[in-house]
Amino acid sequence: MAVRIRTVLSTLPSYAPGRTVPGAIKLASNELSFPTLPAVSEAIAAAVGADTGTAGINRYPDNGAASLVELLAEQLDAPADAVLTGNGSVALCQQLVQAVAGDGDEVVFGWRSFEAYPIVTQITGARPVLVPNTADHRLDLAALAAAVTDATRLMFVCTPNNPTGTALTQTEVVELLDAVPDDVLVVIDQAYREFDRSTDPVDGVKLALSRPNVVALGTLSKAYGLAGVRVGYAVSTPETISALRKVAIPFALSSIGQVAAIAALKARDELVPRWEQVVSERSRVVAALTAGGYEIPPTEANFVWLPLREDAKAFAEHCETHKVVVRAFPDAAGGVRVTIGSPEENDAFLAAAAAWTGRRS
Ligand code: PMP
Repeated sequence: MAVRIRTVLSTLPSYAPGRTVPGAIKLASNELSFPTLPAVSEAIAAAVGADTGTAGINRYPDNGAASLVELLAEQLDAPADAVLTGNGSVALCQQLVQAVAGDGDEVVFGWRSFEAYPIVTQITGARPVLVPNTADHRLDLAALAAAVTDATRLMFVCTPNNPTGTALTQTEVVELLDAVPDDVLVVIDQAYREFDRSTDPVDGVKLALSRPNVVALGTLSKAYGLAGVRVGYAVSTPETISALRKVAIPFALSSIGQVAAIAALKARDELVPRWEQVVSERSRVVAALTAGGYEIPPTEANFVWLPLREDAKAFAEHCETHKVVVRAFPDAAGGVRVTIGSPEENDAFLAAAAAWTGRRS
């Protein structure tokens, strides 16, 4: 007799990460293209080398990551019992669905948005409800509110949105929250918030601390350059945080991740100029692509979106012949997402884009 794998998994794709191609520039995963800060490398080396008998990597990590939570709470101006860390914010996305939704429940989000939302939803047995974005590649807030039914348990709101880069305003999110019943958990995913230079940027933490049905998510994978060590965080009410703790995998955040995150958070002042470089490179890349006839929606993230629809795959393959790996989402609502890298990496991408002879809008 064969093992009975759950039927939902037979049609579910596994998460497909951006590819790494030896010898090519990777602009496919929205990472920060700078070397690791010395303070972070030193903290990791010290954690690995510790032989105090109680603090080495032969010991389990602090399951509650207390020192990291305390520092995050201080920097986010939140009480410590409103903050939870996780093994990347993608793990927290999964924990959030597990905490509030099960068989037959619905999870609402815009589409396109973060690829993991439909996956973490279906893993729990809940049903993803995909709400098409507006023609200008923004989340459709009226349609998101209208998609809520009695079965809705959670809504993901990603701003700036991955992969389109478009950002909501605080005013818009407040209006959305006012329109959504308060028994629906609204998750404001701000993985790219450090790159948002819009005039009324969303402050998810403030909303999470003032509304009981809101969670704010952040990550150290992007702006803090720590994608490889997997550290994310959630801010919400102590009740929601406590539920998230119950569905967490024990010790999911390694001791190396904890010390690296503390060092990176403390070195924020050294990182800010890197974020400014990304923002100015972003303007340069958008201007060059637009001048070349590409349709580029306004982006507040560390990437740009080329809505090439069915041509996305061919464009990505073309870039790869120029030794630049970008991320294609090839379908009718699809396109190509390109991370802002170093100036040289961006030049290589712009040269590839200039040589493309297919459609540009
Ligand atoms: N949310 C969004 C919108 C993302 O784009 C990503 C990473 N691609 C994540 C969450 C997860 O990031 P991590 O798990 O690395 O913290």
